[in-house]
Amino acid sequence: MKTALISDVHANLAALQAVLAHIDAQGVDRILSLGDVVGYGPDPAECVDLVAQRCEWSLLGNHDYAVLYEPTNFNAAAERAAFWTRDQLEPNERWDAETVKRRWEFLGRMRVRVVEGDFLAVHGSPRKPVNEYLFPDDVVQSPSKLASVFSRIDRACTVGHTHVPGVFTDDPEFFYLDDLDDNTFSISGTEKVIINPGSVGQPRDQDPRASYAIVEHEPSKAVGAKVVFHRVEYPIEETVEKIRAIEELPDWLGERLLQGR
Ligand code: ZN
Repeated sequence: MKTALISDVHANLAALQAVLAHIDAQGVDRILSLGDVVGYGPDPAECVDLVAQRCEWSLLGNHDYAVLYEPTNFNAAAERAAFWTRDQLEPNERWDAETVKRRWEFLGRMRVRVVEGDFLAVHGSPRKPVNEYLFPDDVVQSPSKLASVFSRIDRACTVGHTHVPGVFTDDPEFFYLDDLDDNTFSISGTEKVIINPGSVGQPRDQDPRASYAIVEHEPSKAVGAKVVFHRVEYPIEETVEKIRAIEELPDWLGERLLQGR
């Protein structure tokens, strides 16, 4: 079975369209979204529609939570962007009431945690599914944090949130894409793993290309699974220009896309 994992679309329509086209060329069985469909980017409504159409389900990320309920621990700029995003999802001259209602229902159905056999899926971490970050540096700086996180995982976990693609093992160790042969990680033996497919709409690993992963696995089984990471070029300038034209979204939200940081 081939499962595509996307995460952190962040209302970047140009990136999402490029990634979906790339996924369609790989012959996958289904697409799952690990959250943060909206926030930061210029096209929240269109991205909610596409994720609702194309993904089997989407988790709730902290930015989705902010738009649905309230921003928590957001800086001033992120909070302003969240309120602007919420406005875009209200009825206006572009959308009829039915369309608006359908989008809010989709956002409202997003879960914080999904278990399928060996696989646990959360946006942030198993301890704090919406908000906790699992950083590559935690391997060195907070091994006890990672030990606590791994104690809550049976076998495999998929996360987003940091926008940095790669794989944690319970040694603990973190494998960046540069550490992998052919961008591929195979789950073997009895090790536990945490897989982060990276971000579609706002990569932060110094590579501006959109990031996602495809997991080839027996249904519900982690052992023997193969995780292949993909990077996809998209017209970044299109998104940067849209952000520049929207007063409520600071220009640096566009500039960072050009550098992947
Ligand atoms: Zn995010």
